[in-house]
Amino acid sequence: MDHVGVLLGSMALFGITVDGLLRKVEKKARKFPYCRTCGLNMNTAGPSKFMPGEVSRYLEQYNLPAVAASRFTCPKGHYQLWFIPKFGNTERAFFLKEEL
Ligand SMILES: [Zn+2]
Repeated sequence: MDHVGVLLGSMALFGITVDGLLRKVEKKARKFPYCRTCGLNMNTAGPSKFMPGEVSRYLEQYNLPAVAASRFTCPKGHYQLWFIPKFGNTERAFFLKEEL
C-alpha cells in the first residue's frame, strides 16, 4: 500500500513539474525573437526570394524544405534574423543575423 502511495505522489509531482515547464516554454515562445539592438519583439516577415548562402546550405545539409526557414525583421529595421528550428535530424537550431 505504501508503494502505491509513493507512486501516486511522485506522479502528481511529475505532473506539476511538466505543467510548470510547459508554461515556461510558452512564455519564452511569446517573447522570441527580439532585437538585440533595441529589445523590441521582431516581426515575422514573409518568405524572401533571396536566401543567404548559409541558410540554403544548412537546409541542403539536413534535407529541409525552404519553408523550414523563417525570417524575422526588427520593427525599427536594425537587422533581420533567419531562424530554422531544431528538427529530428538537426543537432541545433540555426540562427543567422543579417544587417539590413
Ligand atoms: Zn531593433
